Amino acid sequence: MLIDNAVTGFRQRNTRQDTEKGKTSDIIKPENKQKPSVINWASLRENKAKHDAMKWAGLPPIEKNFYRESSRTASMSQEEVELWRKENNNIMCDDLKEGEKRCIPNPVCRFEDVFDDYPDIMANIRKVGFQKPTPIQSQAWPIILQGMDLIGIAQTGTGKTLAYLMPGFIHLTSQPLSRDQREGPGMLVLAPTRELALQVEAECLKYTFEGIKSVCIYGGGNRRGQIDVITKGVDVVIATPGRLNDLQMNNFINLRSITYLVLDEADRMLDMGFEPQIMKILIDVRPDRQTVMTSATWPDGVRRLAKSYLKNPMIVYVGTLDLTAVNTVEQRVIVITEEEKKAFMQDFIGSLNPKDKVIVFVGKKMRADDLASDFGLQGIPVQSLHGDREQCDREQALDDFKTGKVRILVATDLASRGLDVHDITYVFNFDFPRNIEEYVHRVGRTGRAGRTGKAVTLVTKDDWRVASELIEILERANQVVPTELIAMAERYKQFQIRKEFAKDIRRPQRKPPK
Ligand code: ADP
Ligand code: MG
Repeated sequence: MLIDNAVTGFRQRNTRQDTEKGKTSDIIKPENKQKPSVINWASLRENKAKHDAMKWAGLPPIEKNFYRESSRTASMSQEEVELWRKENNNIMCDDLKEGEKRCIPNPVCRFEDVFDDYPDIMANIRKVGFQKPTPIQSQAWPIILQGMDLIGIAQTGTGKTLAYLMPGFIHLTSQPLSRDQREGPGMLVLAPTRELALQVEAECLKYTFEGIKSVCIYGGGNRRGQIDVITKGVDVVIATPGRLNDLQMNNFINLRSITYLVLDEADRMLDMGFEPQIMKILIDVRPDRQTVMTSATWPDGVRRLAKSYLKNPMIVYVGTLDLTAVNTVEQRVIVITEEEKKAFMQDFIGSLNPKDKVIVFVGKKMRADDLASDFGLQGIPVQSLHGDREQCDREQALDDFKTGKVRILVATDLASRGLDVHDITYVFNFDFPRNIEEYVHRVGRTGRAGRTGKAVTLVTKDDWRVASELIEILERANQVVPTELIAMAERYKQFQIRKEFAKDIRRPQRKPPK
């Protein structure tokens, strides 16, 4: 339709130009007016359908429903269900299927309610000592285990990984086709960055059972080694879209056997421009698979992705869809000049106690190197994490920080999402991030898994555009809002008004002092 419109528009424009030039154009001759559409869409569609039927012919059916509701879950009253959802960060669910809606299953309040038939899973959960499902898990498990597609929207650090991994393991080990007969992996997790992919792999290794084998495929890692593992046969592939697409194009991986697909941190994957690679990868994944998508936010791009790649999904939101920085984080904002920043940070670092662990966020790679070398000169052990470092150095940096070998990590936003280091006590925003979403994600690096954390954020007059959004977040989380920040937001508002006004009277305007 879009192409047809474009072609018609083009013809009309040409016609107008030709007529203006005093020429008579072929296009406006009456006999040419009724030209049939240039493209025969009906035949194209028919061919595509035929091609699809051929492409996917002969695949074994997929078993998707493994859910047996426990008597306890089934006996919950409507009030109990609503109360549970409300008390668990305000869980909201919706069926996005068009037409008649399906019944939204009751949440599971205990691990036993959902994994009683899977003693290996229960044993793993007991081993790590988790008390109860996180909100997203409690509502996502009964939906995914019934075989439905799911969109899970929840802040980082809320247990989304296990929300899709556990049902994925059950799905994998319960297919009619045995693992040896499958000729390729059964589950694929796409994740935005190497660090996140490695982290999903780590969770996978920790909770896996029945000898499920997984491999992590990411750019910068050893390509030959990754290919060797795939060709030897794996069950779960966790990959960044770029590298997977590379292996797919070179026929190193068969994606036809995948029956359970996860698009993890979809918003981040879009931000990083991975949509074309995702599209190419999914051409080779069977359309009747089960798909789970997770995201921390729910912007238009993610909605579009969901519409294209999920079938009749249910959606589970945890918390409001608006940006709410993690409630367990105490947030301090300091309005400061660019020149004062380093001295402020020195004082801050000097005031820490030995148990503290800090992630210092900066805007640019150069700045990360600059601060890291400053610390180095003072004999303070730090690590840094940014895109220009070699992969092995990045892994080492993360490992040193996780194990506590260093207690300060200087990072760009590459590290701001999804990275799971439990015991970060402070997030220090040396530079304000490029947008307010990123602020929320950075702050979410502390206060994880129910702990409390603190965030210190330096704001200069150059950040005035975000002042009002930042105020909103601080207010909603009952934090102190500095008066300078309010003044800054007000100045920006005035500036905008004047700009609009100047535009109206079409007069060049001068920038006011910030
Ligand atoms: P997300 O993907 O939502 O950002 P993760 O899946 O990385 O969050 O989980 C964050 C941390 O919480 C992980 O260390 C994970 O092991 C832990 N976790 C997961 N489920 C639970 C649970 N039910 N109870 C306590 N901690 C959990
Ligand atoms: Mg995650």
